[in-house]
Amino acid sequence: MKLDSGPPTLQSRRTLSLRFNLPISKTHQFWDGLREGKFVTTRCTDCGEVSFPPQADCPRCMGSNVEWVDMGTDAELVTFTYVLVTPTSFVQNDPYVVAIGRLGQGLKILAWVEGSQVERLKVGDKLRLEARSSSDGAPYYVFVTAP
Ligand SMILES: [Zn+2]
Repeated sequence: MKLDSGPPTLQSRRTLSLRFNLPISKTHQFWDGLREGKFVTTRCTDCGEVSFPPQADCPRCMGSNVEWVDMGTDAELVTFTYVLVTPTSFVQNDPYVVAIGRLGQGLKILAWVEGSQVERLKVGDKLRLEARSSSDGAPYYVFVTAP
């Protein structure tokens, strides 16, 4: 007799999709700004820590006194990778480049690099953050190479 075998099961091959609703009540300014092509994030007024993604509470001193500051859009390419074998959620996408760029305030941001040829990218390249809108209207952001 097998213990903990449980009831018989049938393994399904169907794909299940999940839709998440993340709480944004304290960070909606970021998404509102992004819809207008602006990039803002939080800065702790107690210790000065600038955070990205925006935080309702400071990750450094745990204070809850944060203000909204302009992040700027100019960045420098820190590192990047070419994703040839895409994860399941992006399987409908062509291979893409994802990069970490450092903004003026030292913030490091992870984003896709739009329209770039991977063989022409190099660490130290100038990038610019730009806002985009998905087909269902959800705002997101990408890096583009700056001239
Ligand atoms: Zn702080």
